[in-house]
Amino acid sequence: MNVKYFDHSATTPVKEDVLKSMIPYFSINFGNCSSIYSIGRKSKKAIEESRKLVAESIGAKSKEIYFTSCGSESNNLIIKGICYANRIKGNHIITTKIEHPSVLNTCKKLEMQGFEVTYLNVDENGLVDINQLKNSIRKNTILISVMFANNEIGTIEPINEIGKIAKEQNIIFHTDSVQAIGNVKINVNNLNIDALSMSAHKFYGPKGIGAAYVRKDINFEKIQDGGHQERDKRAGTENVPLIVGLGKAIKISTDEIEKHTNNIRNLRDYYISKIEEEVPNVKLNGDRNKRLPCNANFSFKDVDSEELLLKLDSKGICASAGSACSSGSIKPSHVLTSIGLNSKLAEGALRTTFGEDNTKEDIDYLVECIKEEVKRQRKRSTI
Ligand code: PLP
Repeated sequence: MNVKYFDHSATTPVKEDVLKSMIPYFSINFGNCSSIYSIGRKSKKAIEESRKLVAESIGAKSKEIYFTSCGSESNNLIIKGICYANRIKGNHIITTKIEHPSVLNTCKKLEMQGFEVTYLNVDENGLVDINQLKNSIRKNTILISVMFANNEIGTIEPINEIGKIAKEQNIIFHTDSVQAIGNVKINVNNLNIDALSMSAHKFYGPKGIGAAYVRKDINFEKIQDGGHQERDKRAGTENVPLIVGLGKAIKISTDEIEKHTNNIRNLRDYYISKIEEEVPNVKLNGDRNKRLPCNANFSFKDVDSEELLLKLDSKGICASAGSACSSGSIKPSHVLTSIGLNSKLAEGALRTTFGEDNTKEDIDYLVECIKEEVKRQRKRSTI
Protein backbone atom coordinates (compact mmCIF):
# COMPACT_ATOMS: atom_id res chain seq x y z
CA MET A 1 0.00 0.00 0.00
CA ASN A 2 1.17 3.49 -0.85
CA VAL A 3 1.64 5.40 2.41
CA LYS A 4 0.16 8.89 2.63
CA TYR A 5 2.14 10.80 5.21
CA PHE A 6 0.52 13.72 7.07
CA ASP A 7 2.76 13.86 10.14
CA HIS A 8 5.53 16.27 9.13
CA SER A 9 5.64 17.87 12.58
CA ALA A 10 6.63 14.49 14.01
CA THR A 11 9.44 14.12 11.48
CA THR A 12 10.19 14.59 7.79
CA PRO A 13 11.90 12.35 5.23
CA VAL A 14 15.55 13.18 4.51
CA LYS A 15 15.89 14.95 1.15
CA GLU A 16 17.91 13.23 -1.57
CA ASP A 17 20.44 16.10 -1.77
CA VAL A 18 20.82 16.10 2.00
CA LEU A 19 21.51 12.38 2.03
CA LYS A 20 24.04 12.74 -0.80
CA SER A 21 25.87 15.50 1.06
CA MET A 22 26.28 13.29 4.14
CA ILE A 23 27.50 10.04 2.57
CA PRO A 24 31.19 10.93 2.01
CA TYR A 25 31.55 11.78 5.70
CA PHE A 26 30.60 8.26 6.81
CA SER A 27 33.37 6.53 4.89
CA ILE A 28 35.80 8.51 2.73
CA ASN A 29 36.11 11.62 4.89
CA PHE A 30 35.59 9.87 8.18
CA GLY A 31 38.30 11.72 10.12
CA ASN A 32 37.87 13.01 13.63
CA CYS A 33 37.79 16.77 13.33
CA SER A 34 40.16 17.13 16.29
CA SER A 35 42.91 15.31 14.33
CA ILE A 36 45.50 17.41 12.54
CA TYR A 37 45.99 15.23 9.45
CA SER A 38 44.13 16.00 6.23
CA ILE A 39 40.97 13.88 6.65
CA GLY A 40 40.59 15.35 10.14
CA ARG A 41 40.97 18.86 8.75
CA LYS A 42 38.41 18.07 6.04
CA SER A 43 35.91 17.13 8.73
CA LYS A 44 36.64 20.30 10.65
CA LYS A 45 36.13 22.36 7.50
CA ALA A 46 32.82 20.64 6.77
CA ILE A 47 31.59 21.35 10.30
CA GLU A 48 32.52 25.01 10.07
CA GLU A 49 30.81 25.34 6.67
CA SER A 50 27.67 23.83 8.15
CA ARG A 51 27.87 26.13 11.17
CA LYS A 52 28.02 29.10 8.79
CA LEU A 53 24.93 27.91 6.91
CA VAL A 54 23.00 27.48 10.16
CA ALA A 55 24.08 30.93 11.38
CA GLU A 56 23.19 32.63 8.09
CA SER A 57 19.74 31.06 8.05
CA ILE A 58 18.74 32.90 11.25
CA GLY A 59 20.89 36.03 10.94
CA ALA A 60 23.39 34.90 13.59
CA LYS A 61 27.15 34.59 13.63
CA SER A 62 28.96 31.25 13.25
CA LYS A 63 30.47 31.52 16.72
CA GLU A 64 26.96 31.68 18.18
CA ILE A 65 26.01 28.19 16.91
CA TYR A 66 26.62 24.94 18.85
CA PHE A 67 25.78 21.51 17.45
CA THR A 68 23.85 19.11 19.70
CA SER A 69 22.19 15.72 19.24
CA CYS A 70 18.59 16.99 18.93
CA GLY A 71 16.08 19.72 19.78
CA SER A 72 15.57 18.28 23.25
CA GLU A 73 19.28 18.54 24.00
CA SER A 74 19.39 22.11 22.68
CA ASN A 75 16.55 23.06 25.03
CA ASN A 76 18.32 21.39 27.97
CA LEU A 77 21.68 22.97 27.16
CA ILE A 78 20.28 26.46 26.70
CA ILE A 79 17.87 26.55 29.63
CA LYS A 80 20.02 24.75 32.20
CA GLY A 81 23.23 26.29 30.89
CA ILE A 82 21.88 29.85 31.08
CA CYS A 83 20.27 29.32 34.50
CA TYR A 84 23.39 27.80 36.08
CA ALA A 85 25.66 30.51 34.68
CA ASN A 86 23.37 33.37 35.70
CA ARG A 87 22.22 32.12 39.10
CA ILE A 88 24.08 34.91 40.83
CA LYS A 89 21.73 37.39 39.12
CA GLY A 90 18.52 35.57 40.05
CA ASN A 91 16.67 32.27 40.08
CA HIS A 92 13.36 33.01 38.36
CA ILE A 93 12.33 31.65 34.94
CA ILE A 94 9.20 32.41 32.94
CA THR A 95 7.85 29.88 30.46
CA THR A 96 4.42 28.69 29.28
CA LYS A 97 2.12 25.80 30.06
CA ILE A 98 2.20 24.56 26.46
CA GLU A 99 5.92 24.03 25.93
CA HIS A 100 7.38 20.77 24.69
CA PRO A 101 8.32 18.30 27.49
CA SER A 102 12.02 19.02 26.85
CA VAL A 103 11.36 22.55 28.14
CA LEU A 104 8.73 21.72 30.78
CA ASN A 105 10.68 18.84 32.32
CA THR A 106 13.90 20.87 32.25
CA CYS A 107 12.08 23.61 34.18
CA LYS A 108 10.70 21.02 36.65
CA LYS A 109 14.25 19.76 37.22
CA LEU A 110 15.46 23.31 37.81
CA GLU A 111 12.65 23.83 40.35
CA MET A 112 14.00 20.85 42.27
CA GLN A 113 17.36 22.61 42.29
CA GLY A 114 15.99 25.81 43.82
CA PHE A 115 14.91 27.79 40.77
CA GLU A 116 11.41 29.30 40.63
CA VAL A 117 9.33 28.95 37.50
CA THR A 118 6.21 30.81 36.34
CA TYR A 119 4.19 28.83 33.79
CA LEU A 120 2.14 31.31 31.75
CA ASN A 121 -1.42 30.59 30.68
CA VAL A 122 -2.45 30.72 27.05
CA ASP A 123 -5.83 31.78 25.63
CA GLU A 124 -8.28 29.52 23.80
CA ASN A 125 -6.16 29.83 20.64
CA GLY A 126 -2.93 28.96 22.40
CA LEU A 127 -1.54 32.50 22.46
CA VAL A 128 0.52 33.62 25.44
CA ASP A 129 -1.03 36.27 27.64
CA ILE A 130 1.35 39.24 27.20
CA ASN A 131 -0.05 41.09 30.22
CA GLN A 132 0.50 38.07 32.43
CA LEU A 133 4.04 37.87 31.06
CA LYS A 134 4.70 41.53 31.94
CA ASN A 135 3.20 41.10 35.41
CA SER A 136 5.24 37.96 36.07
CA ILE A 137 8.59 39.68 35.61
CA ARG A 138 10.48 40.07 38.87
CA LYS A 139 13.80 41.56 39.86
CA ASN A 140 15.26 38.05 39.96
CA THR A 141 13.93 36.91 36.53
CA ILE A 142 16.87 35.68 34.47
CA LEU A 143 15.23 33.84 31.59
CA ILE A 144 12.05 33.91 29.50
CA SER A 145 11.54 30.77 27.41
CA VAL A 146 8.55 30.77 25.04
CA MET A 147 8.23 28.43 22.08
CA PHE A 148 8.10 30.01 18.61
CA ALA A 149 5.30 27.74 17.44
CA ASN A 150 3.43 24.97 19.16
CA ASN A 151 3.96 21.41 17.96
CA GLU A 152 0.38 20.24 18.50
CA ILE A 153 -1.89 23.13 17.53
CA GLY A 154 0.58 25.10 15.37
CA THR A 155 -0.07 28.46 17.06
CA ILE A 156 2.73 30.98 16.43
CA GLU A 157 3.47 33.00 19.57
CA PRO A 158 3.99 36.81 19.60
CA ILE A 159 7.78 36.39 19.58
CA ASN A 160 8.39 39.95 18.39
CA GLU A 161 6.55 41.44 21.38
CA ILE A 162 8.13 39.02 23.85
CA GLY A 163 11.60 39.76 22.49
CA LYS A 164 11.03 43.51 22.95
CA ILE A 165 9.81 43.07 26.52
CA ALA A 166 12.75 40.83 27.41
CA LYS A 167 15.22 43.31 25.92
CA GLU A 168 13.68 46.30 27.74
CA GLN A 169 13.85 44.39 31.02
CA ASN A 170 17.35 43.04 30.36
CA ILE A 171 16.18 39.41 30.61
CA ILE A 172 17.56 36.64 28.40
CA PHE A 173 15.01 35.39 25.86
CA HIS A 174 15.07 31.80 24.56
CA THR A 175 12.66 30.37 22.02
CA ASP A 176 12.23 26.70 21.18
CA SER A 177 12.01 26.99 17.39
CA VAL A 178 12.04 23.29 16.60
CA GLN A 179 8.70 23.52 14.78
CA ALA A 180 9.26 26.96 13.29
CA ILE A 181 12.57 26.50 11.45
CA GLY A 182 11.76 25.63 7.85
CA ASN A 183 8.21 26.96 8.21
CA VAL A 184 8.77 30.57 9.28
CA LYS A 185 11.52 33.06 8.34
CA ILE A 186 13.44 33.91 11.51
CA ASN A 187 15.98 36.65 12.11
CA VAL A 188 17.25 36.54 15.67
CA ASN A 189 18.35 40.20 15.61
CA ASN A 190 15.05 41.63 14.37
CA LEU A 191 13.17 39.57 16.95
CA ASN A 192 15.60 40.15 19.86
CA ILE A 193 16.07 36.42 20.34
CA ASP A 194 19.05 35.61 22.58
CA ALA A 195 18.90 31.83 22.32
CA LEU A 196 17.10 29.40 20.02
CA SER A 197 16.77 25.63 19.57
CA MET A 198 16.37 23.69 16.33
CA SER A 199 16.30 20.07 15.16
CA ALA A 200 17.22 18.89 11.64
CA HIS A 201 14.66 16.11 11.31
CA LYS A 202 11.83 18.66 11.28
CA PHE A 203 13.10 20.29 8.08
CA TYR A 204 14.01 17.31 5.87
CA GLY A 205 17.35 16.70 7.55
CA PRO A 206 18.51 13.65 9.51
CA LYS A 207 17.39 12.63 13.01
CA GLY A 208 19.83 12.84 15.90
CA ILE A 209 21.26 16.26 15.16
CA GLY A 210 20.24 19.68 16.42
CA ALA A 211 21.70 23.10 17.01
CA ALA A 212 21.60 25.74 19.70
CA TYR A 213 22.06 29.42 18.96
CA VAL A 214 23.24 31.49 21.93
CA ARG A 215 24.04 35.19 21.45
CA LYS A 216 27.76 35.76 21.88
CA ASP A 217 27.56 37.96 24.98
CA ILE A 218 25.44 35.49 26.95
CA ASN A 219 27.01 33.28 29.56
CA PHE A 220 25.99 29.65 29.69
CA GLU A 221 27.48 26.57 31.26
CA LYS A 222 27.99 23.25 29.52
CA ILE A 223 25.83 20.45 30.87
CA GLN A 224 27.79 17.52 29.45
CA ASP A 225 31.33 17.12 30.74
CA GLY A 226 34.17 15.59 28.78
CA GLY A 227 36.40 16.91 26.03
CA HIS A 228 36.49 20.48 24.78
CA GLN A 229 34.42 20.10 21.61
CA GLU A 230 32.05 22.85 20.47
CA ARG A 231 34.20 25.53 22.02
CA ASP A 232 34.01 23.71 25.33
CA LYS A 233 30.21 23.87 25.50
CA ARG A 234 29.32 20.33 24.45
CA ALA A 235 31.62 17.37 25.00
CA GLY A 236 31.63 14.45 22.54
CA THR A 237 33.17 13.68 19.16
CA GLU A 238 31.30 15.67 16.53
CA ASN A 239 28.89 13.73 14.32
CA VAL A 240 30.25 15.10 11.07
CA PRO A 241 27.86 13.46 8.55
CA LEU A 242 24.81 14.56 10.51
CA ILE A 243 26.18 18.07 11.01
CA VAL A 244 26.76 18.30 7.24
CA GLY A 245 23.21 17.05 6.66
CA LEU A 246 21.78 19.66 8.99
CA GLY A 247 23.69 22.41 7.17
CA LYS A 248 22.49 21.22 3.75
CA ALA A 249 18.88 20.85 4.93
CA ILE A 250 18.74 24.32 6.47
CA LYS A 251 20.29 25.88 3.36
CA ILE A 252 17.69 24.26 1.10
CA SER A 253 14.82 25.12 3.42
CA THR A 254 15.95 28.76 3.73
CA ASP A 255 16.37 29.13 -0.04
CA GLU A 256 12.97 27.60 -0.75
CA ILE A 257 10.98 28.81 2.22
CA GLU A 258 8.56 31.03 0.30
CA LYS A 259 7.66 28.42 -2.30
CA HIS A 260 7.49 25.68 0.33
CA THR A 261 5.27 27.55 2.77
CA ASN A 262 2.92 28.80 0.03
CA ASN A 263 2.42 25.26 -1.25
CA ILE A 264 1.78 23.67 2.10
CA ARG A 265 -0.40 26.55 3.30
CA ASN A 266 -2.62 26.08 0.23
CA LEU A 267 -2.89 22.34 0.87
CA ARG A 268 -3.57 22.89 4.58
CA ASP A 269 -6.25 25.52 3.86
CA TYR A 270 -7.86 23.18 1.34
CA TYR A 271 -7.99 20.46 4.01
CA ILE A 272 -9.42 22.83 6.65
CA SER A 273 -12.17 24.09 4.37
CA LYS A 274 -13.10 20.58 3.23
CA ILE A 275 -13.31 19.27 6.80
CA GLU A 276 -15.38 22.26 7.92
CA GLU A 277 -17.72 21.93 4.94
CA GLU A 278 -18.12 18.18 4.96
CA VAL A 279 -17.87 17.01 8.58
CA PRO A 280 -20.35 18.39 11.17
CA ASN A 281 -19.39 19.14 14.79
CA VAL A 282 -15.71 19.83 14.41
CA LYS A 283 -13.51 22.41 16.11
CA LEU A 284 -10.27 23.77 14.69
CA ASN A 285 -7.75 23.90 17.54
CA GLY A 286 -5.16 26.70 17.57
CA ASP A 287 -5.24 30.18 16.13
CA ARG A 288 -6.86 30.31 12.67
CA ASN A 289 -4.37 32.83 11.29
CA LYS A 290 -1.31 32.84 13.52
CA ARG A 291 -0.42 29.23 12.86
CA LEU A 292 2.25 27.18 11.15
CA PRO A 293 1.46 26.79 7.43
CA CYS A 294 1.73 23.00 7.72
CA ASN A 295 -0.58 22.48 10.71
CA ALA A 296 -4.26 21.61 11.07
CA ASN A 297 -5.60 20.22 14.34
CA PHE A 298 -9.29 19.34 14.57
CA SER A 299 -11.33 17.99 17.45
CA PHE A 300 -14.09 15.70 16.21
CA LYS A 301 -16.97 15.57 18.68
CA ASP A 302 -17.90 12.05 19.88
CA VAL A 303 -14.87 10.52 18.20
CA ASP A 304 -11.98 8.64 19.75
CA SER A 305 -8.90 9.84 17.90
CA GLU A 306 -6.77 6.78 18.79
CA GLU A 307 -9.37 4.61 17.08
CA LEU A 308 -9.54 7.06 14.19
CA LEU A 309 -5.75 6.90 13.84
CA LEU A 310 -5.79 3.10 13.71
CA LYS A 311 -8.46 3.15 11.03
CA LEU A 312 -6.50 5.73 9.03
CA ASP A 313 -3.37 3.61 9.45
CA SER A 314 -5.20 0.62 7.99
CA LYS A 315 -5.85 2.81 4.93
CA GLY A 316 -2.19 3.79 4.61
CA ILE A 317 -2.56 7.21 6.27
CA CYS A 318 -0.10 8.53 8.89
CA ALA A 319 -1.37 11.28 11.18
CA SER A 320 -1.17 12.05 14.88
CA ALA A 321 -3.54 12.24 17.83
CA GLY A 322 -1.44 14.67 19.82
CA SER A 323 2.22 15.43 19.46
CA ALA A 324 4.55 12.60 18.47
CA CYS A 325 6.27 12.79 21.79
CA SER A 326 3.12 12.49 23.90
CA SER A 327 1.25 9.92 21.83
CA GLY A 328 1.11 6.61 23.58
CA SER A 329 0.30 8.34 26.86
CA ILE A 330 -3.30 8.04 28.04
CA LYS A 331 -3.45 11.47 29.66
CA PRO A 332 -5.08 14.13 27.47
CA SER A 333 -2.54 16.48 25.93
CA HIS A 334 -1.38 19.31 28.22
CA VAL A 335 -1.62 21.67 25.25
CA LEU A 336 -5.24 20.85 24.48
CA THR A 337 -6.28 21.11 28.13
CA SER A 338 -4.39 24.43 28.43
CA ILE A 339 -6.49 25.92 25.62
CA GLY A 340 -9.59 24.90 27.56
CA LEU A 341 -10.73 21.75 25.76
CA ASN A 342 -12.65 19.31 27.91
CA SER A 343 -11.23 15.78 27.99
CA LYS A 344 -13.79 14.52 25.43
CA LEU A 345 -12.82 17.12 22.83
CA ALA A 346 -9.12 16.60 23.63
CA GLU A 347 -9.53 12.86 23.07
CA GLY A 348 -11.12 13.53 19.67
CA ALA A 349 -8.23 15.63 18.35
CA LEU A 350 -6.43 14.74 15.14
CA ARG A 351 -3.27 16.58 14.09
CA THR A 352 -2.42 16.55 10.40
CA THR A 353 0.79 18.30 9.36
CA PHE A 354 1.41 18.68 5.66
CA GLY A 355 4.64 18.57 3.70
CA GLU A 356 6.26 18.61 0.30
CA ASP A 357 5.25 15.08 -0.61
CA ASN A 358 1.48 15.76 -0.23
CA THR A 359 -0.93 16.53 -3.07
CA LYS A 360 -4.53 17.76 -3.32
CA GLU A 361 -5.59 14.23 -4.31
CA ASP A 362 -3.96 12.89 -1.12
CA ILE A 363 -6.06 15.33 0.87
CA ASP A 364 -9.27 14.30 -0.90
CA TYR A 365 -8.48 10.71 0.09
CA LEU A 366 -7.65 11.75 3.67
CA VAL A 367 -10.93 13.66 4.05
CA GLU A 368 -12.97 10.76 2.62
CA CYS A 369 -11.35 8.33 5.09
CA ILE A 370 -11.91 10.68 8.04
CA LYS A 371 -15.55 11.27 7.04
CA GLU A 372 -16.27 7.57 6.83
CA GLU A 373 -14.71 6.72 10.22
CA VAL A 374 -16.22 9.73 12.03
CA LYS A 375 -19.65 8.71 10.73
CA ARG A 376 -19.10 5.11 11.84
CA GLN A 377 -18.02 6.04 15.36
CA ARG A 378 -20.82 8.55 15.82
CA LYS A 379 -23.44 6.09 14.58
CA ARG A 380 -22.13 3.49 17.04
CA SER A 381 -22.27 5.93 19.95
CA THR A 382 -25.98 6.59 19.30
CA ILE A 383 -26.92 2.89 19.36
N1 PLP B 1 10.49 21.18 20.79
C1 PLP B 1 9.39 21.02 20.03
C2 PLP B 1 8.44 22.16 19.92
C3 PLP B 1 9.17 19.82 19.36
O1 PLP B 1 8.08 19.68 18.62
C4 PLP B 1 10.10 18.76 19.51
C5 PLP B 1 9.86 17.45 18.86
O2 PLP B 1 8.79 17.13 18.39
C6 PLP B 1 11.23 18.98 20.30
C7 PLP B 1 11.40 20.19 20.94
C8 PLP B 1 12.27 17.90 20.47
O3 PLP B 1 13.06 17.77 19.33
P1 PLP B 1 13.90 16.42 19.10
O4 PLP B 1 12.95 15.40 18.61
O5 PLP B 1 14.91 16.77 18.07
O6 PLP B 1 14.50 16.10 20.41
